[in-house]
Amino acid sequence: MTHDDGPVPPPTASATTSTTGRSPVEPHPEPGVIDGVTVRPPGESPRAAVLSVGDELLLGDLTDTNATWISRRLKEQGVEVVHHLAVGDDQQAMGDALAWLCARVHLVIIGGGLGPTEDDRTREAVAAAAGVDLRHDADLEEHIVQRFASMGRPMAAQNLRQARIPAGATAFPPAGTAPAFGLTIAGPSPTRVIALPGVPWELHELWERHVVDEVASIAGRRVTVTRVLHVIGRGESDVAAVVEPLVGDREGVTLAFLAKSQEIQVRLTVSADERSGALAASQPLVEEVTDALEGAVAGVDDEDLETVVLRLLVERGATVATAESATAGDIAARLGRVPGASQALLGGVIAYATASKHQMLGVDEALVAASGAVSEPVTEALAAAARDRFGADFGLAVTGVAGPSSVDDLPVGTGYWALAHPDGSVEVHGRRIPGDRGQMLARLGTAALDLLRRRLASP
Ligand code: ATP
Ligand code: MG
Repeated sequence: MTHDDGPVPPPTASATTSTTGRSPVEPHPEPGVIDGVTVRPPGESPRAAVLSVGDELLLGDLTDTNATWISRRLKEQGVEVVHHLAVGDDQQAMGDALAWLCARVHLVIIGGGLGPTEDDRTREAVAAAAGVDLRHDADLEEHIVQRFASMGRPMAAQNLRQARIPAGATAFPPAGTAPAFGLTIAGPSPTRVIALPGVPWELHELWERHVVDEVASIAGRRVTVTRVLHVIGRGESDVAAVVEPLVGDREGVTLAFLAKSQEIQVRLTVSADERSGALAASQPLVEEVTDALEGAVAGVDDEDLETVVLRLLVERGATVATAESATAGDIAARLGRVPGASQALLGGVIAYATASKHQMLGVDEALVAASGAVSEPVTEALAAAARDRFGADFGLAVTGVAGPSSVDDLPVGTGYWALAHPDGSVEVHGRRIPGDRGQMLARLGTAALDLLRRRLASP
């Protein structure tokens, strides 16, 4: 390290978070000292930025998934990401961005620009920002030479560019081809800069090997966990009216709502000294909110609707078959993607054309003529036929008008979904479903699957 800020300052007291606070992050009790330099003064919540490098990001050829991945990982360690910035393969632009970011955050994560070619300028830009030269790292050279030897390929001289890192930097040996490094940039408020390769798997690997510990030095060992409740079939304000009073001013819990195309997410963020502690601390609240939403929570965390439906079917030893008009097999396909689907999904029929509803599933032609192909009675008949033809416990069916034009005077967005029960009774629902063609069809399938989930979940 090029400088030393003296002894480690004493820890500050831990503070609490309110639900109204901007950040889910508590001021951390441990000092943010790395290599003897304080990059996060006691009492300040850790703040970070992501700087992504690459012309293709600016040209619109590449989506910056590294930035979202890094943000999620930093959040888990209690670090608030306050800026995402992208620059081209341009040393001046990187320098400007670094200067701006270093004045605002404790930690900058750079992704990209560590390749062997002339346009890879991250090493130079970071060295210039720190006011140091590049130095040749013998260990990194050894790694690079070994790598080419193991591939049986000759090494071009320019590959040795990758053995150069800013003086004073800690080298991270490569996971793939590009070495990475961490360096503290001095100044009125020193900033830790970590440069990682842009190739996602290499970035992930080096993150686990080196960055997690660096972040912990800066942010402390507290972890933050976000529990996600997937709510289907209720509006955002309705959900908020139920959940907000429950969460109230609970200490250490932050509440957020996220409206997605097919669901409302209730996000509860909690922190604790370790991941299992945060999960355990949040569990009673997750259960309380689930109960209060009366069956509308389709899944928690990574469990999506299809997975829940399949799990519930298997738990009950029950089977399902589908008859799909508008969604053209998508409901069966969604179930089919869940591992173990064969334990509960017997099959499905795509009865798309009006005639197919009769030919394939025996739906009465007179009924179709009288009610219309998109109607309650026909959807009901399809669900009963699916159950019957496949010998399943449940039959699930949909019909709808996805556009572009209306059908039988029914407006675009009209959708019906029906569930045939083990006792042979059939329930059918319908409404106008908003969205473009793709969204309308996805939501129609979700409504049908969610109907089955609710019936399976109720005692
Ligand atoms: P490295 O530092 O590993 O040498 P680089 O920027 O020099 O990275 P590129 O050739 O620009 O390497 O990128 C390699 C690949 O990594 C790209 O084709 C792209 O698929 C992926 N990649 C780079 N940056 C990002 C990013 N921000 N988000 C997602 N993928 C990325
Ligand atoms: Mg690049």
